[in-house]
Amino acid sequence: MLDITSIPVVDNHCHPVLLNQHMDALRFRSYCTEATDPSFAEKHVPNTVYYLWLLRQMATFYGCERNEDDILAARSRLGADTLLEHLLRAANIDTLVLDPAYPLSSACYTPERMGQLGHCRAVKMLRLETLMQELILDYSDFDEVIERFADRVRHVHEHGYCALKSIVAYRTGLNIAEWSKDEAAASFLEARTQASEQGQLRIAHKPLIDYLLHIAFQQAAEQQLPIQFHTGYGDSDTDMRLGNPLHLREVLERKDYHSMAVVLLHESYPYCQLGAYLAAIYPHVYFDLSYTIPFLDKLEMLAFTRQALSVAPTSKLMFSTDGIHLPEMHWAGALRGRSIIGQVLDEMIDADEIDEDQGYGIAQQILHDTAYAVYKL
Ligand SMILES: [Zn+2]
Repeated sequence: MLDITSIPVVDNHCHPVLLNQHMDALRFRSYCTEATDPSFAEKHVPNTVYYLWLLRQMATFYGCERNEDDILAARSRLGADTLLEHLLRAANIDTLVLDPAYPLSSACYTPERMGQLGHCRAVKMLRLETLMQELILDYSDFDEVIERFADRVRHVHEHGYCALKSIVAYRTGLNIAEWSKDEAAASFLEARTQASEQGQLRIAHKPLIDYLLHIAFQQAAEQQLPIQFHTGYGDSDTDMRLGNPLHLREVLERKDYHSMAVVLLHESYPYCQLGAYLAAIYPHVYFDLSYTIPFLDKLEMLAFTRQALSVAPTSKLMFSTDGIHLPEMHWAGALRGRSIIGQVLDEMIDADEIDEDQGYGIAQQILHDTAYAVYKL
């Protein structure tokens, strides 16, 4: 059996956890589903296999009975700081690559504090659509928005970011097109009108988003900055048809963007084979293997891990948890990821596809080394 438990992980995509960890069962469960209908927290989350697994792991870790009430009482007794400290340290994390744009920063631990408590490094990425929204609200002149947007992306390193992130899949889809400046400007006016009518802005204006994304891609390519794309399974507002990573074809085909590493998040679930295929074809595409979210059970995680390792070069795969809200998510994802990657590599050793040394080397790449190179850590 391959033992990879001692390899410290780079969690190449995760989020901050909440400052307030004192919560009842309904609230705790609501963080363990992507569904927003309250019936899920009431009835269905306790009937999902991954949740039953998570509760058992927590009971063992907290040394309490396996029922939900005792487990939640045990974690409440520890208090948020101690909870974070214990869990992140037990997960043996080298670096957290955080998307601090969600949840709301005022409700969350800062990346710096998470790093302190977890005895690990914490670095950040810049979410492009959040920046777009801020600038569109602040400036009435489209040229000024373009200029400031380009400038912010050009100087991300100086502001402490190591990567860009796009959630365009959640808004208008991964089929990012090239629009004229006039089309984008008309779309900008619509967004401004909507913002002044509603007092807030949720940007979902396709010519505008696509146009600004291309500006970000040019800047990222010039600076060899990586960008993460949300793909596949996600919030309930996503149109999963447009979350298929094959829609990125036009962007991926642009040779002048090839110096921008593209990371397809969440194993593009359920388009796993397609995402791994893109990593096998395009030199700059990487494939993220995420072991807490999407919320899946072990058998399905084994399946996507096998697919990724079978299709893509092992140098194109990176580990993550997508942990968010609860520190258990970062911890459980690290445990789960190591165990599943280890099991699949064992299967490949048994099948005489690789030998044991190669298996260990591959685990080291996925859990640690490739992220160091891609994010220049
Ligand atoms: Zn995420």
